[in-house]
Amino acid sequence: MNAVTFPERRARPRGPIVNGLSVDVEDWFQVGAFEDVIERDQWGSLADRVDRNVREILDLFDEVEAKATFFTLGWVAQRHGALLREVAARGHEIASHGWDHRRVFTMDRASFAEDIRKAREAIEDAAGSQVSGYRAPSFSIDQRTPWAFMELVEQGYAYSSSVAPVTHDHYGWPEAPRFAFKPLPWAPLVEIPVTTALFAGKRLAAGGGGFFRVLPYAFSRWAIRQVNRREQRPAVFYFHPWEIDPGQPRVAGAPLKSRLRHYTKLDQMAPKLRQLIREFAWGRMDLLAYREGARVEREAAAAGAFA
Ligand SMILES: [Zn+2]
Repeated sequence: MNAVTFPERRARPRGPIVNGLSVDVEDWFQVGAFEDVIERDQWGSLADRVDRNVREILDLFDEVEAKATFFTLGWVAQRHGALLREVAARGHEIASHGWDHRRVFTMDRASFAEDIRKAREAIEDAAGSQVSGYRAPSFSIDQRTPWAFMELVEQGYAYSSSVAPVTHDHYGWPEAPRFAFKPLPWAPLVEIPVTTALFAGKRLAAGGGGFFRVLPYAFSRWAIRQVNRREQRPAVFYFHPWEIDPGQPRVAGAPLKSRLRHYTKLDQMAPKLRQLIREFAWGRMDLLAYREGARVEREAAAAGAFA
């Protein structure tokens, strides 16, 4: 009789965790911090910087061989078809950042439905590719908008990355899960919150934006290492085209705090991004959503089996 043989138990070396890299495509005059100073009907008359900035980001991504997701405003897509086709042609995902940067908690369900429908139509027309992901302006899906996920499911979205599970002065849903979850158990939609790191039991925003630009690089490296190595989870990082643009026009009438946050260290952003992208593994959000959705399902099934 043959001896019973067991398959080799030697673990295959695992590659690094692939994190989600994203760009929120809006121009310098569309940021939440300036919305009390610049009216939406002025947008069309202001200097366009988004085209050159996104092209610079595309070159940077090629240089460091990274693929990413570009969450784009419908308003921008409608005016920059050639740019969006270029983004898609270079292997990146194009997803939705809503129509004109209205935060979700300032809308009711009907206006939200209209906002994301209009944005998606403009983006798909411009890019010639299908949209499957959504990021709320200023991470504005929270406990005030229980209908938002339902609307995303109804409009056929596969994933959302719209929650900041942290306390912040402009946004945040501190009670939300820190990693991917299914907000509606009966629907396949996956929410992938922006990254937070745990320090002394507190959640710290660590997924990009002003924090990445203003704080030393060492903070972001520490945070993403914590998430990847200690927690064994992918991080989600985002930045904006205007953050690599020291030549953008200055908004004079904005509050001092907003101006400090917006204009600090713009010239250091590109080298910092290169370092971050080289030091960790990055990819598109749709692929991350697919993997994380499968993980959430496996874990739910395992929990069910042992319940
Ligand atoms: Zn935005």
